[in-house]
Amino acid sequence: MQADLELFQKLSKKLIAHEEKTGVVKPIKAEKLLNILDLDVSNNGLKREELESLLEEVVLSTPRTSTKLFFNQLFGGRNNKGTLGELLAVMLNNSMYTYKVGGPQVGIEKVIISKVCQMLNFGKNADGTFPPGGSMSNFMAMLMARDAYDRDIKFNGVSEKMIIYTSSASHYSITKNAMFGGIGINQIRKIEVDQFGKMIPEALQNQIETDLKAGLKPFFVNATAGTTVLGSFDDINKIHNVTKNYRGLWLHVDGAYCGSVIFSKSYKHLVDGVEKADSFSFNAHKMLNVPLSCSIIITKEKHNLKHSFACEADYLYQTDGDEYNLGKTSLQCGRRNDALKFWTLWKSVGTEGLERMVDRQFQLAETARNYVNNHPDYELYSYGDSISICFNYKNVDPKDLCNSLYEDGKLMVGYGEFQGKIFVRLVTINSNNEADDILNFFKVLEAYVEEKESELVTI
Ligand SMILES: *Cc1c(COP(=O)(O)O)cnc(C)c1O
Repeated sequence: MQADLELFQKLSKKLIAHEEKTGVVKPIKAEKLLNILDLDVSNNGLKREELESLLEEVVLSTPRTSTKLFFNQLFGGRNNKGTLGELLAVMLNNSMYTYKVGGPQVGIEKVIISKVCQMLNFGKNADGTFPPGGSMSNFMAMLMARDAYDRDIKFNGVSEKMIIYTSSASHYSITKNAMFGGIGINQIRKIEVDQFGKMIPEALQNQIETDLKAGLKPFFVNATAGTTVLGSFDDINKIHNVTKNYRGLWLHVDGAYCGSVIFSKSYKHLVDGVEKADSFSFNAHKMLNVPLSCSIIITKEKHNLKHSFACEADYLYQTDGDEYNLGKTSLQCGRRNDALKFWTLWKSVGTEGLERMVDRQFQLAETARNYVNNHPDYELYSYGDSISICFNYKNVDPKDLCNSLYEDGKLMVGYGEFQGKIFVRLVTINSNNEADDILNFFKVLEAYVEEKESELVTI
């Protein structure tokens, strides 16, 4: 093991050196991957030196999500303390289903959940868990809502048309979850958004009334704190003003992207009213820069978690009470330890440190928006109070621009679409970045367009 730990260190150091030198990698064409790298497995194992050099080759040709030129998705940067916690979790290799196997790690998970419950003002009956990502957090919320609407569904299955409401700008996991949960895609109502990408509460109200008149069963409203493209925040108070009038209508807040604003005194107003929701989720692997994946779902009444997810298994639960056997409130059985990395970070920087990370991202977003606004070759499509900056440069087609930048190994950024307009979406989620790194993003992009002007598609 010692030799492999040393190899790990050696490879990590090489990776970091390459990250600093070159930023992102020039990608290997997907169709050529198996010709270029020896990825296939065979009967005979490799010699140590062969494995070592192959590992190095694979590591160094993998996309570099932690560099200052990666702005592609809603995560980025390498948080030292988060990474340390993650590495320790791998060494410990606990499973979080029981206290017998998790020990103090169970306490770590419980402390984080209870602290977040307090921050949300969710009251003394609140509880939560760490699902394997934000999509699964939304799934757990939907299942709790379904089972709270009719407590016999878990025995009988779904036999009525139960209706889901979510904005047209919400995450696609709502659609997938409607498929998995026995609700059906046809029972999703995509509620219209305003020009800022926020769900229109009157449109929600009208749709609920229409569905009730048709004899359908509204049961779940999903509000979003940070939509995936524009980074918009639905108005939770206004949405709750609608949902509170209907029996059994659950309000979930999907804060996977930007729910971490709860850690910032300056930005938590963006989720004002969250204490009125039935459940709330956020991804610490997004704004808090903890390694993938680290998602938390909190619900106001812990009996809903138990009702939807607890099952007896005498081969598993053999010691301690349900309070400490966290498998009683999780989707899966064996469950990796996603709490330790978040706790290691939180302990090391304190809540104030987490706040600084969130605030930094909004400051970087401000830098980017100012740059775009002050340069006539740019057009801005997004708004303030968001860490997504959506823009187009000159008349360059955003799809072609993003894809070419990627193929030439210059930088990684993606494009998005809102109300028929397609644009580049820059995400300032890496709180290791400084204002200069954001300005450098524009410098790289502009130099690239200058160099490739004749080849790039225009709109
Ligand atoms: C990222 C995201 C999700 C999904 O989270 P995963 O951890 O990728 O499954 C859900 N909702 C929103 C708004 C997101 O931005």
